[in-house]
Amino acid sequence: MREHNLTLLRAGWLLPISAPPIQDGAVLVRGDRIVAVGKFGEIPTETVSVRLEFPDGILLPGFVNPHTHLENTLFANKIKRNQPFSKWLFQMVRLVRSQSFEDALAAARKGVKELVKFGVTCVGEFSRLGASFIALQKAKLRGVVFKEFICLNDSEAERQLEELKNWFETVKPDRDPLLNAALGPHAPYTVTPFAFKRVLEFAEKQNLRLCIHAAESPFERKFVEQRKGIWRWWLGSVLRNAPLGLSPIRYLDWLGVLKPETLLVHCVQVDDADIAVLAERKVWVAHCPRSNANLRVGTMPLAKMLSKGVNVCLATDGLASVDSLSPLDEIRFAIKLAQEHPKVYPSLPPDRWLRMVTLDAAAALGLDKFVGSLEQGKQADIAVFRTGSKVKDPFEALLFGAKEATLTMVAGKVLKADSELT
Ligand SMILES: [Zn+2]
Repeated sequence: MREHNLTLLRAGWLLPISAPPIQDGAVLVRGDRIVAVGKFGEIPTETVSVRLEFPDGILLPGFVNPHTHLENTLFANKIKRNQPFSKWLFQMVRLVRSQSFEDALAAARKGVKELVKFGVTCVGEFSRLGASFIALQKAKLRGVVFKEFICLNDSEAERQLEELKNWFETVKPDRDPLLNAALGPHAPYTVTPFAFKRVLEFAEKQNLRLCIHAAESPFERKFVEQRKGIWRWWLGSVLRNAPLGLSPIRYLDWLGVLKPETLLVHCVQVDDADIAVLAERKVWVAHCPRSNANLRVGTMPLAKMLSKGVNVCLATDGLASVDSLSPLDEIRFAIKLAQEHPKVYPSLPPDRWLRMVTLDAAAALGLDKFVGSLEQGKQADIAVFRTGSKVKDPFEALLFGAKEATLTMVAGKVLKADSELT
């Protein structure tokens, strides 16, 4: 009997990520799953009902962008992206305070379109209002939505925690096969130790993952470690009950936050002891080099972190601090950074960079069993980039030639296809 739901995608090159590149490769998709991956000639094609061929295309698992702020998409024109972190943060606070839920939803919808355009099929989204959860759900993108939690005063903690719990009740993430909800205690300097511990209890009880901005700027380090610097006037007594003398990373460790299920974003201002803790605790770090450069917070010691065994993946951050949500743009910038700062920043081979925006980023979100590589049994999350010519080196063609995806597919469903395909 003929099977009607088998789709064959054939491309000049396949980059499975978990295996070497395959020239003239094909992927067979049934429903939401990959049922075969390999050389075109070795894939059974008799029962295929839909055939998509990309002779000049590079086909790979859809990108996983593990840190975005989709609700900030429309701030892009309202904020200067290239300025010192403290000034930027003050401007952000003003913008955020005047943003309505509808504004945030419109922004998130636009952000989702950007992701799909660049072949991103899965995100780690940091959501202030929950609007991006709705936008992602509607668009049928995959991801983990970390609900932002800020608490500057212990007396507010219980009420805010109630609000957080109510949000989880309303979104009912367990009913969605593509989206998970998780917790985003914003940063060591925006949540009191008491509130942090209460959030942790909730996370443990509900088995929720965590995402936290950490060790991003020198201002943060000075404030958390010594309660000094200009942030003292702004943040006042948030850390009144926290021990003095701990770096942001060691303070988070003191709170008991650092676990393999935790994703830390940035980790630029880290010393050797911090790096040892990050490696020991097996936490994931989302590295955002373009955002760090724009906000002038320093260069992450990536070479040392990788050599000490820290789990690092690559993310774009939101459009309030970078000019695209393209993981390929992020890699291009990282490669440039490696040329400029060879002592602190490594020159990695292209397949390693790509792994940081696919399989490693998926692992950082706890999704590597399902996505991040082209493997039989995994979800059919796929991106295709066309090159317009015959390709000798698929890595080079992708990293230095490709712009927008020709096809973006999540769970076997096409979200973007160039006109000739549709
Ligand atoms: Zn962020």
